[in-house]
Amino acid sequence: MMRNTWKKSIWFISAALFGCSSPDAPLSYDVLIVNGTVYDGTTNEPRQSNIGIAGDRIVSLTADADAAASTIIDASGLIVVPGFIDPHTHAEADIFDTPGNRNVNFLAQGVSTVFIGNDGGVIDDRIGQLETLRTQGIGTNVGWFSGHGTAREAVMGLENRAPNEEELEALRDFVDDDMRAGALGLSTGLFYRPGSYADTEEVIELARVAARYNGVYDSHLRDESSYNIGLLGAVSEAIEVGETAGLPVHIAHLKALGRDVWGQSGDIIGLISAARERGVDVTADQYPWRASGTRFNNALIPRWVMADSEEAMYERLANADLSDGIREEMEANLWRRGGAESLLVTGDSEWRGMTLGQIATEMGMSPTDAAIEVVRGGNPSIASFNMNPDDISAIAIQPWVMTGSDGSTGHPRKYASYPKAYRDFVVDSSLMPMEKFVHRSSGLVADTFGLCDRGYLAEGRKADIAVLDLNTYRPVADFQNPTELATGVVHLFVNGAAAISDGEVTTGLSGELVHRQNLQCSQ
Ligand SMILES: [Zn+2]
Repeated sequence: MMRNTWKKSIWFISAALFGCSSPDAPLSYDVLIVNGTVYDGTTNEPRQSNIGIAGDRIVSLTADADAAASTIIDASGLIVVPGFIDPHTHAEADIFDTPGNRNVNFLAQGVSTVFIGNDGGVIDDRIGQLETLRTQGIGTNVGWFSGHGTAREAVMGLENRAPNEEELEALRDFVDDDMRAGALGLSTGLFYRPGSYADTEEVIELARVAARYNGVYDSHLRDESSYNIGLLGAVSEAIEVGETAGLPVHIAHLKALGRDVWGQSGDIIGLISAARERGVDVTADQYPWRASGTRFNNALIPRWVMADSEEAMYERLANADLSDGIREEMEANLWRRGGAESLLVTGDSEWRGMTLGQIATEMGMSPTDAAIEVVRGGNPSIASFNMNPDDISAIAIQPWVMTGSDGSTGHPRKYASYPKAYRDFVVDSSLMPMEKFVHRSSGLVADTFGLCDRGYLAEGRKADIAVLDLNTYRPVADFQNPTELATGVVHLFVNGAAAISDGEVTTGLSGELVHRQNLQCSQ
């Protein structure tokens, strides 16, 4: 499928750098992709065209099929799309703990760029770590957020209270430093500790800092269910933050979690559509699974019990005076999530592969007591089957919803979200045409986060390009085997270099750190 012509290349550097098209188009390319069906990242229908790459840029979309090139890819029978951009992952540990990580699980889905630091952020020493990443190399491009949770923990630990004026100033400085270093915006995880201890005013104050740098407010909502302010209240809060602080709002992994809020997708779509109509830029991402993924304590244990430190949490759990109250709240949380059979241990644990119901039977105790034991025994990751297919479909078709994986260890979404979204939404249900799936996985993400030189197959943009075989593009990972690589990506270019070639992952580390751009994208 690939042949090398080894003709001497003549590159017009201006075309490579500035995206000038003919008459300055190169006479010869580094890579030429011919005969493919090209979806360019817009919602336009596909067309047959030949793509020329010079250096790390796309320099022609109308190349001659017989032009000279160092590498020629024959994409007959295949589709050519922009490399997908995943706006929500939890790849930090993979990236920072494994030098030169290729992010293979994402590459094999056609993803060329991932964002990290979502849900309030979990990057310690983030600026130093990112510099290390730059020097070590990385398989995919990486964009990152300033994390409210990371900032709060650094400034005031896990204390369940509002910051004083001095602490608030320190939080502002933290976000300011990150934005200057290139963060895409401010992320919050208001459902989680310690984000849950912050009120809306605190979040608005920090979002104002991100707004000064044209950042985006990216939020894991305070409540995706009926835990505290309710799903509708939490969507309203996110919109309020963006509207008051003056920046775009992006809601992470939008869903109606749990039986109390099933059917509320219409209401949240109404709230977001109304906000968009009055000029607030609100978008969301979504992963195509009925199960969310979290850890046992986050799903069941009240936040006040988790305050201050792990030791304090275990003391409260062991306190006989608190026992009835804690168990009552945990039972309500378990009911909300669908009961003990709907929680499946997926993380590293002796209980892996078992539901909480099965664990409780084996332990001979109630599900809530068994859950406390499992938390004590390592607090593993779980899959929580809590979504309704009708809500998933209603959210999926909104023009402001994009694909995201929320990829976290133990859940197959980390290995399979993009091909599964393609199978579920384009092939099996005809919810959307192929071009819309491509747009919501590439161009829409670039537009939303201001990545002005990625996301589309257009002259001058970075050559992040996937060549897919739709006959074989499919998810393989499932809840029993969550780390199976997806199939069907025949070639993947990241900044013009092959990350996958003829279906094989290369040793290339051509990913770059993706910084916020202050330019308004022209597309
Ligand atoms: Zn999240």
